[in-house]
Amino acid sequence: MSEKPAEKEKKGKEKREKKKKEEKGVYTLYKIEGDKLVRLRPTCERCGPGYFMADHGDRYTCGHCGFTRYKTATAK
Ligand SMILES: [Zn+2]
Repeated sequence: MSEKPAEKEKKGKEKREKKKKEEKGVYTLYKIEGDKLVRLRPTCERCGPGYFMADHGDRYTCGHCGFTRYKTATAK
């Protein structure tokens, strides 16, 4: 296979952007600790488990119902 240098460069940039996007997959919401599955985001107390809330710095917001919960000092 012979590729043009310009094409190769473009491909490399595309690959890097794609990798960055992949980091925001659903699997980032979970973390395996030993044999336990740990949720990294809180779930919406209105919608129930399965609906994750988005981290907005000092608060969490549910994208499903719009419920906002402010972070407490104890929760890190
Ligand atoms: Zn909700």
